[in-house]
Amino acid sequence: MRINEERLRSRMDAINRIAVTEEGGMMRLALSDADKTARDLLKSWIKEAGMEVRIDDLGTIQGYLPGTDPNSLPIGVGSHMDTQPNGGRYDGLFGVMSGLEAVCTLIDNGITMKSPLVVIDWTNEEGARFVPPMLASGVVAGNFDVNWVYAKEDKNGIKYVDELTRIGYMGSKSNRFEKAKAYIEPHIEQGPILDQEGYEFGIVTGALGITGLDVKIKGETNHAGTTPMRNRKDALMVAAEAMLELRKKTIEYGDPAVITMGIISASPASKNIVPGEVYFSIDMRHDNDEALTRLEQDVREIIQKVCSDNCAESHIERYWRADPVHFDEGIINASEKVANKLKIRAKRIYSGAGHDAVFINRIIPTGMLFVPSIKGMSHCPQEDTKWEDIVTGTEMLTELLIKIDK
Ligand SMILES: [Zn+2]
Repeated sequence: MRINEERLRSRMDAINRIAVTEEGGMMRLALSDADKTARDLLKSWIKEAGMEVRIDDLGTIQGYLPGTDPNSLPIGVGSHMDTQPNGGRYDGLFGVMSGLEAVCTLIDNGITMKSPLVVIDWTNEEGARFVPPMLASGVVAGNFDVNWVYAKEDKNGIKYVDELTRIGYMGSKSNRFEKAKAYIEPHIEQGPILDQEGYEFGIVTGALGITGLDVKIKGETNHAGTTPMRNRKDALMVAAEAMLELRKKTIEYGDPAVITMGIISASPASKNIVPGEVYFSIDMRHDNDEALTRLEQDVREIIQKVCSDNCAESHIERYWRADPVHFDEGIINASEKVANKLKIRAKRIYSGAGHDAVFINRIIPTGMLFVPSIKGMSHCPQEDTKWEDIVTGTEMLTELLIKIDK
């Protein structure tokens, strides 16, 4: 079934013209005026398609199309329209717009579905304005308390609940999308794998689990000029040695194991003092629970060994653990069948990033579909996807909705 490419392109362009940075990036922070303008457009297109607009108490927008079977639970499809401060054209927007286009294509072709269809724009997925990310889906999935989310402030001290009310998108709790037959989130990959390996499409099997550690290494603060090299307990050098070992070990694990030491600070942070103490953060991820646990054990042992070899002390504390997520087998298999039928080159892939789908998976059978990101660029103005892949992804989604309905 052919989608209406022109309609899809002109709608995406309209949203992407709203707030453009000097570098050509997108700037639609959650619940800002730019977000409101995008929301108003989405609402008008939902109405134009003959669907009902529903808004929940987190500001999440839903376009609702009734099905023919009054007993059938709905099928949801969507993502988010908020962006990073200098974000890309398709992150989030692709999921909402391909969902809307798929439903419009079904309507245009006179195809009726047993299940109601719901097109969704989740509020504050990015976490760029209100931290942490995925606040709305997190409440719906039971991870966060709604009042805790309402009280979240942006960096200017403005509250989520006040912005939600100001832009006119405070809806009702009864509209929450929390009971459904399936939720599908189409998204850009945000990584290089599909593009590098020449695939048109990714069927997402799950999302990586995460372990976060805070590491402190204690050596000895001393004079930079009078302390001979052999007498030093330089905490920063010990940390550097440990970090290189951690990198080597993680590479041994192979894909999809990843490790990042994103924050490092040395004290007393003076140019002529040997650093006596160092703090660094570790973020490590894997799709396999047991492997992630083993990796954490290896990481701890490496740090302890490097420290004891250098007469330094270490203190390691775990600040975060999220188990790997596995999406619904039925949706994964159905996606694969549709891809085969349409002769689309698809690869099973995991998500390295967090998405609303990761939370919603806890309460509703969920799946994700990826289109390739050119050179894997994301959260930046260079983020891009070939137009033919956007079209293929949307057609694939349309067929998948029909298959899930059956
Ligand atoms: Zn996104």
